[in-house]
Amino acid sequence: MIRGSTDDTTAVRLVPLGGLGEFGLNALVLEWEDHLLLLDAGVLFPPAEMPGVDSIVPDFEYLAERASRLRGILLTHGHEDHIGALSYALQAAPAPVYGSRLTLGFARKRLQERGVHADLRTLVPGQPVEIGPFRVHPIRVAHSVLDSLALAIETPAGVVVASGDFKIDGAAPPDERTDVDALSQWGDRGVLALLSDSTNVEQPGLTGGEDAVVPAFEQVLERTRGRVLVSCFATSIPRIQRVADLAVRALRPVAFLGRRMLDNAEVALDLGLLRLSEGARIPPGSLGGGAGGRAVVLVSGSQGEPLSALSMISVGEHRDVAAGPGDTVVLSARAIPGNERAVSRLISNLFRLGCDVVHPGTARVHVSGHGSREDLVELLRRVRPRYLVPVHGEYRMLAQHARLAVDAGLPSDRVHVAEDGDVLRLSPCGARREPRVAAGRVLLDRGASEIEDVVVRDRRHLSSEGIVVPIVVVDRQTGRLESPPEIVTRGIVDADEAAELAQEAVRLLAGALDGRPTEERLDPALTRERVRSELRRFYKRRTQRRPMVIPVVMEV
Ligand SMILES: [Zn+2]
Ligand SMILES: [Zn+2]
Repeated sequence: MIRGSTDDTTAVRLVPLGGLGEFGLNALVLEWEDHLLLLDAGVLFPPAEMPGVDSIVPDFEYLAERASRLRGILLTHGHEDHIGALSYALQAAPAPVYGSRLTLGFARKRLQERGVHADLRTLVPGQPVEIGPFRVHPIRVAHSVLDSLALAIETPAGVVVASGDFKIDGAAPPDERTDVDALSQWGDRGVLALLSDSTNVEQPGLTGGEDAVVPAFEQVLERTRGRVLVSCFATSIPRIQRVADLAVRALRPVAFLGRRMLDNAEVALDLGLLRLSEGARIPPGSLGGGAGGRAVVLVSGSQGEPLSALSMISVGEHRDVAAGPGDTVVLSARAIPGNERAVSRLISNLFRLGCDVVHPGTARVHVSGHGSREDLVELLRRVRPRYLVPVHGEYRMLAQHARLAVDAGLPSDRVHVAEDGDVLRLSPCGARREPRVAAGRVLLDRGASEIEDVVVRDRRHLSSEGIVVPIVVVDRQTGRLESPPEIVTRGIVDADEAAELAQEAVRLLAGALDGRPTEERLDPALTRERVRSELRRFYKRRTQRRPMVIPVVMEV
């Protein structure tokens, strides 16, 4: 039996490894004595200034060093920023994985792709599970993916409630609604700490319900002669359900397009969480004409991802769909910060094809899954925690969430804004910080292998400053130039100017290299260094750029 204690020797330690200071990368370790739980294991989608980086996962070194003490990994819901790094967490520290049916359904698919085995255990709202010295109570919350959970974790030092991503959405159907009564009951019993989602803290009021998108979709279906292509996150099953229902009512067939959309739809259909009769669905191959010409197509790629189905459609290169006049594309998602330009280009390309495009800037075709200020205050009022730790968001969101809580009446010494790697020790007697631990990011490329920071730095350097490759052939005996150097440049100036500059640089190199003392001429390493420094200086002076110079010195 778990009992609360008032002596300071027993405390919970919170160690955020990601998600406190950025959007995504959610991963937080909760510790009591020698027992660890990991809450979520998410990825961060790479920003545009990291060329060639496919995904970013938390550095799980801290976990790996304590692998034998990890009792379980708890997943709040099935978004990539909460489950996308699960296979890496499991490699660092294998442990049973707990989550709701849909969350585990999505996670299972990802783990299979990576060939990682896991012991998956289903959480059902209202049914607590014992994990080591902890007892975990899953609580249903409303979010843009179904089967999302908040978790009330009983520890010997008190109860910690993790909100997961949530909004209150009191008008949602029962299986999508936040169980506010359960949250209030925890408030009555006493909660040591609340970890609460900060994503939408800059939005006033209450976040709207999912049904708010229905009228705009009805209008689109009514006025569109051809196909209606709807792009949302492939995990947004409540949205997909509403769109599919409207399609069926309008006697339009439904199709799913794009690997992630197809995969997730299959998982949700299998679990009975997405309801669509077999006859209402058509395969992507029959979207060309007939009934397919009026289909409602749920398609992945709302973020303008370059290889997604919608991007291929927008440039007329998709195998099954050639969109054009008469078709409407609905972008039913907001652009994740960093993706705005890609999304904007996507919209322009679709208009260029003659499609009509409807997006959250022009119609209410998206509502957020995250609670706004009043949702956050309501959660706080119901849970009434001793301590609040804002989670999920950039530092500015965490800081504003802290202010909001203080305005709502929580004493400021009870609110703790922490960042990745900070360690908070919380007990009924007090809260304090402990020395920071290592927390960072691991960059992965398409093949999921690790990329060194320096590689990304080089790519960024190349993309902004260009490259110069001088080819120098010298006589092995004398060290003198065999022929004038050749210089290839890319990305510095336009072609004509580049050729002119290269000629000048060739003359400069010839003089500088042959004018050196013999022993320096005979050392290829010194020659390389000299070529590099001469050209760096030359191009900096003439172009105000610092191109990467890669000398090739050959001896003949
Ligand atoms: Zn999230
Ligand atoms: Zn989420």
